[in-house]
Amino acid sequence: MVTHHLTRIFYPVGQGGFYSEQHNLTENKSLNIVYDCGAMPLTNKVRNIIRNSFSQKDDIDALFISHLDYDHVSAIPTLVQVANKIKKVFLPLLTPCQKILLTNIYRVLNDNFLELNFIELINNPETFFGTETEIIYIEPEEDISNGLPSSTPVDIYSLKNNDKIRSGSKIRLYTNINWIFVPYNFLDKNRSKQFTKQLEARGFDKKDIPSLFKDENYTITKLINQNSRKLLKDAYKGVEGTINENSMLLYSGPESSQNSDLKYDLCDSGLCTCVNCDFLSPSKQPGCLYTGDLDLNKLPISELFEQYNRYIGTVQLPHHGSRLSFEPNAFHNFGSKLFVPVSFGSRNSYGHPALCVINYLTSDGKSPLLINENEASKIEHEIFFTYNE
Ligand SMILES: [Zn+2]
Ligand SMILES: [Zn+2]
Repeated sequence: MVTHHLTRIFYPVGQGGFYSEQHNLTENKSLNIVYDCGAMPLTNKVRNIIRNSFSQKDDIDALFISHLDYDHVSAIPTLVQVANKIKKVFLPLLTPCQKILLTNIYRVLNDNFLELNFIELINNPETFFGTETEIIYIEPEEDISNGLPSSTPVDIYSLKNNDKIRSGSKIRLYTNINWIFVPYNFLDKNRSKQFTKQLEARGFDKKDIPSLFKDENYTITKLINQNSRKLLKDAYKGVEGTINENSMLLYSGPESSQNSDLKYDLCDSGLCTCVNCDFLSPSKQPGCLYTGDLDLNKLPISELFEQYNRYIGTVQLPHHGSRLSFEPNAFHNFGSKLFVPVSFGSRNSYGHPALCVINYLTSDGKSPLLINENEASKIEHEIFFTYNE
């Protein structure tokens, strides 16, 4: 019999995201997973949260990055410093045009992007993370009607630096437990189109727009006029900071039991630290779907992840609870009791999370968990279970 103790934490970093899972297994084996690591603004308080979450004794077995927006990656340099090593980083695979657009825009947005060495993270992640870290790319998927590929789980240790794997592939960290990770890099081309529209509406010279996608030095050599740079910043704000076409979701939970030779029993001893959800133990449905800044109008998550729905008890509310990225039907196929953590900064200028979204979830019987920069809003789920071999 193998025992498995999972601690899943949603940290109070404000506008951004920093989520971790520690899997403690028999034989003193401990595995650490992180999904996103950033906040805007990146304060010392946020840096201290990262510093206190891991120590020099800890390896991060896998860091999954939903997308390369500042608020999801800005604290990664701190994570690199505090952990002993980050063994594997899973990134959405970007096209050259996507990299050039991000490079051009982040250079203009804010000096902090330079401090973070963001340009290196986009263009040269191997150098950014160093030689101890292997980078694995998740191929984009645009056509969701393909569903998830049916394949047997790959062992994380068989993945090598620069490998590219299909969206929806199952990754296993440890063979003796029924637990997999399924990253899915959803490609939403509409996002760069909306950004282009914003630029045009604000009077940005139409014929210059393609250069943002083609000339990686455009915002160094050509776009030097302060007024045009401001137009770019305003357009970025106009789309609530979502120009990024990639959004990598992550399912973390049991593999569907039909395919698995391992059966698991959940002890009824799940715990949740939040006050408003004592009616539900997370151990009944230990799986979690992390969603980054996904637009729920574009991807019906509960249909795509249907085979895992009965294990999913937690779904991160995407895009900090933005009204524009919400679609009520997206949650209908999940169990009626569902934790829906949402990360946001209490002083963000976008109005995240939208009150109508939170009210809708509550009236639908879900449990939205509001996580901002206040320490008391941290959510910690403890789940214990045993596997019978
Ligand atoms: Zn984003
Ligand atoms: Zn975000």
